[in-house]
Amino acid sequence: MPKIVRSPNPINSVVELEEGDIEKLRAGIVEDWTDDGVPPTDVFVAEQIEHLTGFLQSSHMGDCTCCPFTCEKCIAEEYLGVDTMQDLYKHDAYKVDAAFGDGRTMDEAIAWLAAYSERLDATPDSEKYDGSPKLIGLWDSAVPRWKREGERAHEWLVAYRDTHFPITCSP
Ligand SMILES: [Zn+2]
Repeated sequence: MPKIVRSPNPINSVVELEEGDIEKLRAGIVEDWTDDGVPPTDVFVAEQIEHLTGFLQSSHMGDCTCCPFTCEKCIAEEYLGVDTMQDLYKHDAYKVDAAFGDGRTMDEAIAWLAAYSERLDATPDSEKYDGSPKLIGLWDSAVPRWKREGERAHEWLVAYRDTHFPITCSP
């Protein structure tokens, strides 16, 4: 099994390959790229293995973090049977990632998410999109959904911290 090196921001956790993992990547690539019974060339497969191995060492970016394209890291993780952001829904993942902005630590990120709804409530109309009355309405209609996502993101990150970065009491 590959080794997951967890980062406080789960989007940045990296996956290190162990023996046999390259074969799993190879099998996944061959299966996905076989077209009408014709398998991809060895050169192509080798390139893809190198490509995905690089992605496993970098951050998630794509559908999983609400960007409209395929995340290569997610594909590689699927081939390997691991998931560095298990049960983290994409809109929530986007918020978890944002919580670590400005160099915030794990605890600061959790506090940032805990205050998410409060900050939305405190947003003046002039800061909602460009402040036009039509867009203020659009903003306000999205607030209940954003709050739910913020709450889920907060819950997820607390559980993630407790599992992978537990707080230890000093004697
Ligand atoms: Zn991803």
